[in-house]
Amino acid sequence: MTDCLFCKIIAGDIPAEKLYEDDEVLAFRDIAPQAPVHFLVIPKKHIVDPAGVSEEDEKLIGKLMRIGSQIAAEEGVGDGFRIIYNNGAKAGQAVFHIHMHILGGKERPWPM
Ligand code: 5GP
Ligand code: ZN
Repeated sequence: MTDCLFCKIIAGDIPAEKLYEDDEVLAFRDIAPQAPVHFLVIPKKHIVDPAGVSEEDEKLIGKLMRIGSQIAAEEGVGDGFRIIYNNGAKAGQAVFHIHMHILGGKERPWPM
């Protein structure tokens, strides 16, 4: 999608600090980190949000979990990190290309 920020990052039109890339998945650091380690893992396929994941995308979305966990370990936070997906503006979603946030590097209280 030409007007999608993350599709532009995928296309290389907007720079990002990439942590991982293959033909299906891209991971890059969040521009406004909310933790010492904060990066995003996205499918290259433009899917709007978690609610927009179709049956055919299930394997791809599972791959985000596997790759994201590997990167978290490489970033030194494999023993404790949080995964967040915001779905919809009401939940704080600002970029409408599905993305997995991974946050780590400080204590994350639970319940929030
Ligand atoms: P959302 O609020 O949609 O769940 O998360 C969007 C995330 O994308 C935010 O954490 C925001 O800081 C990040 N972000 C927005 N624009 C850019 C950008 O141009 N580059 C990078 N690397 N991250 C961005
Ligand atoms: Zn997109």
